[in-house]
Amino acid sequence: MKNPVVIIGSGLAGYAVARELRKLNTELDVVMLSADHGGFYSKPMLSNALSSGKTPESIVNGDAVQMASQLKISIRPHCRVSAIDQAACEVTLADGEKIIYNQLVLALGADQVHLPLSGDGVANILTINDLDDYKKFRVALTGKKRISIIGAGLIGCEFANDLATAGYHVDVIDISAQPLGRLLPPAGGAFIRQRLEAAGVVFHLNATTQSVDQVQEKLHLTFADGSAIESDIVLSAVGLRARTQLATSAGISVNRGIVVNRLLQTQFDNIYALGDCAEVAGKVLPFVMPITHAARALAATLAGNPTEVRYPAMPVIVKTPACPAVVSPPDFTIKGEWHVEADQNGVKALYKDDTGRLLGYALLGAATQEKNSLTPHLPPVLE
Ligand code: FAD
Repeated sequence: MKNPVVIIGSGLAGYAVARELRKLNTELDVVMLSADHGGFYSKPMLSNALSSGKTPESIVNGDAVQMASQLKISIRPHCRVSAIDQAACEVTLADGEKIIYNQLVLALGADQVHLPLSGDGVANILTINDLDDYKKFRVALTGKKRISIIGAGLIGCEFANDLATAGYHVDVIDISAQPLGRLLPPAGGAFIRQRLEAAGVVFHLNATTQSVDQVQEKLHLTFADGSAIESDIVLSAVGLRARTQLATSAGISVNRGIVVNRLLQTQFDNIYALGDCAEVAGKVLPFVMPITHAARALAATLAGNPTEVRYPAMPVIVKTPACPAVVSPPDFTIKGEWHVEADQNGVKALYKDDTGRLLGYALLGAATQEKNSLTPHLPPVLE
């Protein structure tokens, strides 16, 4: 019998490959190894769970046992891979057990970036990048009122909206001059800021957090200009870094993510990567849609039909109900500029090149209704 396809990781990427592969092939042995509980859940739901009345438990669609039976694969939760031997085609688990693979899929996700802050409260800063983090956060919220979020990006703004709607006092701190600074032109940033402020969020922009100190029950955040705020909980949401260490130690090429070609293949024929850990044809795209497309292509390849991934335009919906927003970030290496129409109901920002070709957009408020008519005019992310 053939050795199995081994998938490391039980996040959206690991599960998407397993599911797509099962649609094409019911015979191949598939083993999923996961450092966590191994259950299937939708990570994007974490940032609007409070206001949608969800508990961490109710977000889980199926635990490891249920998913294994549904997909007819073997799932080993709480099973961390500590090494890959690409020459021997085997992985070593933390307890020393070795598993031989025929093909290996790395779906390892990403780690939260930690800012280099000083102070004795730093160890108490929370981050949320998976269900277990979120469970801790929900426990920590009990009896608390004031939450500070460092980072006004997508995740920071979504949690801010969710917490404010649920009645918490929310401070959002960011080094840049506007929320969603990487995705929106200034008019868009001003619009979402004003809508989130109306929902109760307090922004501290152009503010560099320097230290977080524990003062009795409270955390004190001190900024570079000397000002300070007090908080019950500090959540850091300043970005992600692909998990590459396992690959690096195995001699697999790594750049901003694990380097793969459009077959999702590393430099080794039978080792693949996708999801937040991967850099696919030069792009690191830590979102759901790229995973869906990559998983379909990779499943076909694993089933014996080598298939390159193609990414169409993949707009991202920002889950801030106080300010509906959808963004399709342009490739900023292509020269272009924002064309902005704004009024009190919304912002329509189109990023065009000098021939008038649409390269990306940011739609907020009422302008989100134009998503369906504009999206077909966007260029594919990977032709
Ligand atoms: P993960 O889900 O991080 O999975 C990695 C897996 O690898 C885990 O099971 C982990 O245990 C395992 N693992 C790691 N190392 C090892 C090891 N050594 N041995 C064994 N197992 C290991 N994207 C959108 O497109 N739209 C959204 O609205 C959106 N909202 C989001 C909201 C939040 C709060 C967050 C945090 C993200 C959001 N995203 C959103 C991003 C999206 O959820 C991620 O891109 C996606 O879930 C990543 O899936 P993944 O499988 O690559 O990684």
